[in-house]
Amino acid sequence: MPLCIFCRNERELTEEHIVPDCVGGSLKPKLLCKECNSTLGSTIDGPFSNTVLVQLPRQSYQIPGKSGTVPNPFGNYGATTHEGRELSIRLDEQFKPYVKPIVSEQKTDPGLEISITIDKEDEGDIESILRKKITRYYRSLGMPDDKIQTEVDQAVLDAKKIAVPVSHQPTIKYSFSIDINVLILESIKIAYEIAALEFGEKYVTYSPVAEALRCALRHQRRDGIGGGLGIDFGPLKAILPGQDAHYVLLLHNSCVVSIFGIASIVEYCGEKETFARSIDDAVLYVFDPVNRSHAKHLLADFLFQYANGKA
Ligand SMILES: [Zn+2]
Repeated sequence: MPLCIFCRNERELTEEHIVPDCVGGSLKPKLLCKECNSTLGSTIDGPFSNTVLVQLPRQSYQIPGKSGTVPNPFGNYGATTHEGRELSIRLDEQFKPYVKPIVSEQKTDPGLEISITIDKEDEGDIESILRKKITRYYRSLGMPDDKIQTEVDQAVLDAKKIAVPVSHQPTIKYSFSIDINVLILESIKIAYEIAALEFGEKYVTYSPVAEALRCALRHQRRDGIGGGLGIDFGPLKAILPGQDAHYVLLLHNSCVVSIFGIASIVEYCGEKETFARSIDDAVLYVFDPVNRSHAKHLLADFLFQYANGKA
């Protein structure tokens, strides 16, 4: 039986998307037992797929998830103000705005003041909201039901007369928070799995850094892992894939993981370990998330092809 690279038990192995399925990853070797696959799915890939830094490009490039739907980072309500009122607005998949209804009432002497803010789409609901509010008001005054009916009809007619349609183009403010930890943990997972794919059981069993990466993933803590977010590649930046692709590069003892152009670096082995890659045998995996394809290159070949205008 083969070894699961995470729990290191001999188990039947299942396909693992090294770059997550949700961002169009297509490399899925059998590396993990079913249980570890599902653990990493819920603790590492799940939070990663929910961050806005992943959802925004998925919407731009129209990359659907398992359910076939593309996420909508604006599906939650954002805030705007109109004529001094705070409004909540969300956008649908076609960026069509929807205003969350606000109904407020205030008793005046004599009478009742009702204010309704509603999306144009819900215009048909105004009458039933008015009827409910006015009926409750007259009932509280002890008015008999048959008389209430007449009063409500009149009030609805009056309300329709004074309703003035207005339109405006508000600026909607959204606030997103990004947990850097989630992005780095995903990079640690990808780095560990790519190294395990490249170097096999030897890496998983003997590299002390591999042990540290497993520990980080198990406890979802990146303390003690060399690397971080954001790298300046200088002139190499123009050669490596941009934000419409992903890549994973094993060079020296570091693994560079770039997802939609957000690059992080993870030390996947010690400097002097046999798993470190020199510039001559550095490996570059390039992923096309839209077409769900990938290719593996020697970095040296990739640079050579670029220099000859073929990459
Ligand atoms: Zn396992």
